[in-house]
Amino acid sequence: MAPDGQILAPKVYDAEPIPEAARAEIDRLLLSGDLFRYTAAEGAPVALLEQEFADLLGAKYALAVASCSAALFLSLKALDLPRGARVLIPAFTFAAVPSAVVHADCTPVLVEVGDNYRVNMADFEAKLDDAAAVMISHMRGHTSDMDAIMALCDARNIPVIEDAAHSLGTQWHGRNIGTIGKVGCFSFQSYKLVNAGEGGILITDDPEIVARCVIMSGAYESNWKKHPGMQNSYMLWQNKLPLYNMRMQNLSAAVIRPQLPEVASRVAKGRTGHDRVADQLNTCAHLTVPPALPPEERAPDSIQFNLQGDWTDAEALRFQAEAKKRGVSVQVFGLSEGNARAFWNWEFLGPAPDLPQTRAMLMRACDVRLPTRLTEAELDYIARALIGSADDVRG
Ligand SMILES: *Cc1c(COP(=O)(O)O)cnc(C)c1O
Repeated sequence: MAPDGQILAPKVYDAEPIPEAARAEIDRLLLSGDLFRYTAAEGAPVALLEQEFADLLGAKYALAVASCSAALFLSLKALDLPRGARVLIPAFTFAAVPSAVVHADCTPVLVEVGDNYRVNMADFEAKLDDAAAVMISHMRGHTSDMDAIMALCDARNIPVIEDAAHSLGTQWHGRNIGTIGKVGCFSFQSYKLVNAGEGGILITDDPEIVARCVIMSGAYESNWKKHPGMQNSYMLWQNKLPLYNMRMQNLSAAVIRPQLPEVASRVAKGRTGHDRVADQLNTCAHLTVPPALPPEERAPDSIQFNLQGDWTDAEALRFQAEAKKRGVSVQVFGLSEGNARAFWNWEFLGPAPDLPQTRAMLMRACDVRLPTRLTEAELDYIARALIGSADDVRG
């Protein structure tokens, strides 16, 4: 707060402190130097994290790795797809997702996304028949129609991997996102709900998939014995699969574990805060926040909204500038230079495909971080700044 009692623009890129409980464990690890997950015979922090995370989500197996991108890559490799196999992904996602597909020697096929940020099911169905796998990215935590996606994929026996990097705590018909497809992948990068700087984890109920992922993540020699579960499956894959060494180290697990008990309250706060801002933005004729699909209970730590009406690019850029003047940083996905979430910037894929619906959405969809720690006054400040900026530009 400023000296005159005015609320200042909240700093939405600052992190929260890591829970105090992490310190003692990190101290213990520093004193012993025991940082490698496979040194201890049992009870390594990474192994404990895997058990706790699997329990939290209601999955049989979890494997902690270096990043969500590593989890996505290993999941695809574990499906043993032929080189060049087509993998459907939404055209609205983070560049790391098509990158993971390329890394796994597969070919990403981009599916149109509507102005509600969810997969266009007609385009999905049209592209599904020659797909070998589907990777559904719940971008910014927005859940596409998982009932329709699973019905279409199950009927064709096509495996679904969920990129739930930004969806920890989101539910679909009361079921945790990440447990609906064959594999669910999460991120602990700093801008996600649980912050370890970097890190990722995959969950699955499939003992063969997890065994293959464990070996490929770098459980060399007989280190797979330190993963509970179907030991015979591991034996089968030992030395048959490459070791990509994408393990998590103990310090990351020590930072993550004390945050898991806070997930539920962060989700509740994030949802309340998001809805508070959304309600205000929806009173403005120039802005609109698309609703979630009915089965989804969201866990947002950011808000996305569309510039409503016939905005020009110049007006959209002025809106960004006006908000910036008020201390609020807005990104119009398609208008911020080199944005990693705009598919035409994924030059590593070759010429950008023609995806008019996704392109139109990205040119008018705005992104604002709303960390779950923000107070009501700070949330209201952001909502007022956005509405004031839109009114200034559009009159
Ligand atoms: C953050 C994010 C990723 C990448 O996660 P990393 O842990 O940084 O590799 C992938 N997909 C989505 C939707 C994300 O938000």
